[in-house]
Amino acid sequence: MEPAVLATNLFHTYGDGLRRKTILHDVNIEVRPGELTLITGPSGSGKTTLLTLIGALRAVQEGSLCVAGEELNGATPEVQTRVRRRVGYVFQASNLLPFLTARENVMMSLNLLAEPLPTKERYNRAAEALAAVGLADHLDDYPATLSGGERQRVAIARALAHRPRLVLADEPTAALDKQNGHECVQLMRNVARTQGCPILIVTHDPRIQDIADRILRIDDGHIQEST
Ligand code: ADP
Ligand code: MG
Repeated sequence: MEPAVLATNLFHTYGDGLRRKTILHDVNIEVRPGELTLITGPSGSGKTTLLTLIGALRAVQEGSLCVAGEELNGATPEVQTRVRRRVGYVFQASNLLPFLTARENVMMSLNLLAEPLPTKERYNRAAEALAAVGLADHLDDYPATLSGGERQRVAIARALAHRPRLVLADEPTAALDKQNGHECVQLMRNVARTQGCPILIVTHDPRIQDIADRILRIDDGHIQEST
C-alpha cells in the first residue's frame, strides 16, 4: 500500500535577501497507513509549515511531496483541491460554529465534498462520526454546553466524517488539560487503527508522546526518528 505521505528532499524557505531563512532542510518522511505519527519540536521549528505543506495549504518550493496519491510539487489548483478534500484537519482550537449543534457542525464539513451527499446521508454520517468519538448522546448539543474536551472531539468527528485518507492535527491538545489531551489523542489513535486512516499530529506537548506509534523530531529544519 502506498504511504499516505511521502516527502523526499523537501526544503522550505521564507523571506528573501537578508531575511531569507530555510525552515525545512532536506526533510524525508513517510507516513504509513493505520499509524499515529507525532512530530515534535520546539516552537518555531517548522511544524506548522510542514503540516500546511502536507495539507496542500501552502505551495511546495523544493523537493517532492506526495500526499494521498498526488505529487504536490508543481500541482495545479485542481490537484491541490483534490488533496484537500482527501485530508481531514484538526486545529488547536476546535473552531466550531456556535450557532450550530454538534451534528450540524459535522454535517457542514460534508457540504464540501466533490459529490454532494443527500441530506439524510449527511445526517447519518455525522451521527456515526460523533458516536465514534463517544458523543452519541450529544448530537443536538451546542458547543457552548460542551466541555473543552468534548468540543475537540466534535472537531475530530468533523475531520473524520468525510472519510479522509489522512488526518492532520496542529497542536490539537494545546488548549486541553492533561487528561482531556490524552483522551483526545487516544481516540485519534483508535480511529487510525480501526479505520486504517493515518494521523499526523504536530505538537510541542510532551504529555501525549506515550500514545504515538511513532515519534519524529524536528530540529534545526531536519527531521529524525526519535528513540
Ligand atoms: P512551529 O509550528 O514549529 O512553531 P512554524 O512552522 O509556524 O513553526 O514557523 C517556523 C518558522 O518560520 C518561525 O521562525 C516563523 O517565524 C517562520 N514563519 C512562519 N510562517 C512564516 C511566514 N509566512 N513568513 C515568514 N516567516 C514565517
Ligand atoms: Mg505551529
